[in-house]
Amino acid sequence: MAKLLEGRPLAEKIKQEIKLEIESLKQKPVLASIQVGENAGAAAYVKSQQKSAENLGIVYQLHKLSENTSEDSLIDFIKKLNSDNSVNGIIIQMPLPASIDYKKISQFILPEKDAEGMHPANIGKIVFAQAKILPCTAAAVMELLKETGVDLYGKEVVMVGHSEIVGKPLTLLLLDKFATVTVCHIGTSKAGKLEEHVRIAEVLIVAVGKAGLIKGEWIKEGAIVIDVGINRVGDKIVGDVEFEAAEKRASWITPVPGGVGPLTVTMLMRNLIEALRLQK
Ligand code: NAP
Repeated sequence: MAKLLEGRPLAEKIKQEIKLEIESLKQKPVLASIQVGENAGAAAYVKSQQKSAENLGIVYQLHKLSENTSEDSLIDFIKKLNSDNSVNGIIIQMPLPASIDYKKISQFILPEKDAEGMHPANIGKIVFAQAKILPCTAAAVMELLKETGVDLYGKEVVMVGHSEIVGKPLTLLLLDKFATVTVCHIGTSKAGKLEEHVRIAEVLIVAVGKAGLIKGEWIKEGAIVIDVGINRVGDKIVGDVEFEAAEKRASWITPVPGGVGPLTVTMLMRNLIEALRLQK
């Protein structure tokens, strides 16, 4: 039976480190959060970020802009926050209204204030193994892997999902550890080859958003399984991996909820501390 790789205890440990660092500062760091329009999903993220920030002694500045905000005025607003020396980090809440292109506007955030680690300059630095600010979910997965004590050198790692926020940056971070990384995506599934790749994974990371995509019987005996997926099935939240069957074969497995999720928001706060260092 696999050991549970829970995010909360690890998040608590990292939060203590962040708290100590913040206590040693003359001024509380400030995270500016921009929400455009009303959305239940964004509101829930804001609430959890606000709580987490305030518990750590971070000032969470929420800027709610109207649904009708144009791209240009949002860019002007970002520039204002960029030049405000009291603001240390900026985050843009998703989803944005359809008229606003996240990729376009997020490039206007100064890389040293990019709390989400999604600015092209920060993503680009991952290629050179020089990134200080990492995409939060990718950083959370790396922390969980560290917690298992696994030496990734030469390990068969299979990454299912190649999104810009999870799969692609994680692949680069894993390569830096000299893992042998196979990246699977919709093309792999359509070619009927997902199972054969998953079966060889000594470390399996899944970030797709499809409940039950990964069958428990595909998991290699002793594999480490990190399930990033979040899916609502009836009144339950589940991941992308068939948990009950997978935990009988894996050595470590993240629960959903309670695995990657609790760490992701902590990584946002850690990025803010990194941002602060870069601004000095
Ligand atoms: P995304 O942008 O939709 O990416 C999903 C990826 O899965 C894409 O690369 C997609 O390929 C691939 N895919 C789709 N169907 C597939 C299939 N049948 N077989 C193999 N690959 C397939 O999603 P995301 O933002 O990366 O998020 C993925 C999941 O993680 C979601 O459930 C999300 O809610 C969750 N998530 C959790 C956290 C957390 O903190 N726990 C954070 C972020 C995301 P194509 O693009 O080629 O179709």
